[in-house]
Amino acid sequence: MNLEIMRCTRCGSKFFPARYFCPSCGGDEWTPRVAESGTVLESTVVRHRAGEQQAHVVHLATVQTNEGPIVIARLDAAVPDRTSVLLEIDDTHRIVARAL
Ligand SMILES: [Zn+2]
Repeated sequence: MNLEIMRCTRCGSKFFPARYFCPSCGGDEWTPRVAESGTVLESTVVRHRAGEQQAHVVHLATVQTNEGPIVIARLDAAVPDRTSVLLEIDDTHRIVARAL
Protein backbone atom coordinates (compact mmCIF):
# COMPACT_ATOMS: atom_id res chain seq x y z
CA MET A 1 0.00 0.00 0.00
CA ASN A 2 1.06 3.57 -0.54
CA LEU A 3 2.01 5.87 2.31
CA GLU A 4 -0.43 8.78 2.12
CA ILE A 5 0.32 12.24 3.47
CA MET A 6 -2.67 14.57 3.99
CA ARG A 7 -2.40 18.03 2.43
CA CYS A 8 -4.69 20.78 3.74
CA THR A 9 -6.82 21.98 0.83
CA ARG A 10 -7.04 25.51 2.27
CA CYS A 11 -3.43 26.34 3.24
CA GLY A 12 -1.32 23.54 1.76
CA SER A 13 0.21 22.33 5.05
CA LYS A 14 1.02 18.61 4.98
CA PHE A 15 0.71 16.15 7.85
CA PHE A 16 1.19 12.55 8.77
CA PRO A 17 -0.70 10.96 10.38
CA ALA A 18 -4.00 12.55 9.34
CA ARG A 19 -5.61 15.19 11.59
CA TYR A 20 -9.23 16.16 12.01
CA PHE A 21 -8.42 19.86 11.74
CA CYS A 22 -5.42 21.61 10.24
CA PRO A 23 -3.25 23.02 13.09
CA SER A 24 -2.19 25.87 10.82
CA CYS A 25 -5.51 27.23 9.55
CA GLY A 26 -8.30 25.17 11.13
CA GLY A 27 -9.35 23.73 7.77
CA ASP A 28 -10.95 20.31 7.63
CA GLU A 29 -10.64 19.38 3.96
CA TRP A 30 -7.70 17.25 2.95
CA THR A 31 -6.17 16.02 -0.27
CA PRO A 32 -4.17 12.79 0.00
CA ARG A 33 -0.67 12.84 -1.50
CA VAL A 34 1.39 9.69 -1.97
CA ALA A 35 4.85 9.82 -0.38
CA GLU A 36 6.77 7.29 -2.44
CA SER A 37 10.26 8.03 -1.24
CA GLY A 38 12.30 9.82 1.36
CA THR A 39 15.69 10.39 2.93
CA VAL A 40 16.88 8.74 6.14
CA LEU A 41 17.63 11.39 8.75
CA GLU A 42 18.71 8.99 11.49
CA SER A 43 18.38 5.28 12.18
CA THR A 44 18.55 3.17 15.30
CA VAL A 45 18.49 -0.48 16.33
CA VAL A 46 15.96 -1.82 18.81
CA ARG A 47 16.68 -5.23 20.35
CA HIS A 48 13.84 -7.22 21.84
CA ARG A 49 14.61 -10.18 24.07
CA ALA A 50 11.93 -12.72 24.86
CA GLY A 51 12.93 -15.42 27.34
CA GLU A 52 15.63 -17.76 26.04
CA GLN A 53 14.96 -16.94 22.42
CA GLN A 54 17.45 -15.14 20.25
CA ALA A 55 17.40 -11.38 20.32
CA HIS A 56 15.02 -9.96 17.75
CA VAL A 57 16.53 -6.92 16.07
CA VAL A 58 14.44 -4.15 14.54
CA HIS A 59 15.93 -1.29 12.56
CA LEU A 60 13.98 1.97 12.77
CA ALA A 61 14.63 5.19 10.90
CA THR A 62 13.28 8.70 10.91
CA VAL A 63 12.63 9.49 7.26
CA GLN A 64 11.93 12.85 5.68
CA THR A 65 9.35 12.01 3.02
CA ASN A 66 9.48 13.57 -0.44
CA GLU A 67 6.22 15.31 0.55
CA GLY A 68 7.79 16.93 3.62
CA PRO A 69 6.44 15.32 6.81
CA ILE A 70 8.82 13.12 8.84
CA VAL A 71 7.77 9.53 9.57
CA ILE A 72 9.21 6.60 11.53
CA ALA A 73 9.83 3.59 9.27
CA ARG A 74 11.15 0.06 9.63
CA LEU A 75 14.25 -0.99 7.71
CA ASP A 76 15.48 -4.47 6.77
CA ALA A 77 19.02 -3.53 7.69
CA ALA A 78 21.01 -0.60 9.00
CA VAL A 79 21.69 2.14 6.46
CA PRO A 80 23.80 5.31 6.65
CA ASP A 81 22.11 8.64 7.31
CA ARG A 82 20.94 10.45 4.17
CA THR A 83 20.24 7.15 2.33
CA SER A 84 17.43 7.50 -0.21
CA VAL A 85 14.60 5.03 0.44
CA LEU A 86 11.31 3.90 -1.05
CA LEU A 87 8.36 4.04 1.35
CA GLU A 88 5.30 1.84 1.61
CA ILE A 89 2.82 0.41 4.09
CA ASP A 90 3.11 -3.33 4.76
CA ASP A 91 0.35 -5.88 5.45
CA THR A 92 0.40 -5.05 9.16
CA HIS A 93 0.03 -1.30 8.48
CA ARG A 94 3.59 -0.43 9.39
CA ILE A 95 5.66 2.01 7.38
CA VAL A 96 8.53 0.21 5.66
CA ALA A 97 11.57 1.83 4.04
CA ARG A 98 13.76 0.11 1.44
CA ALA A 99 17.12 1.50 0.39
CA LEU A 100 17.21 2.51 -3.27
ZN1 LIG B 1 -4.52 24.41 6.67
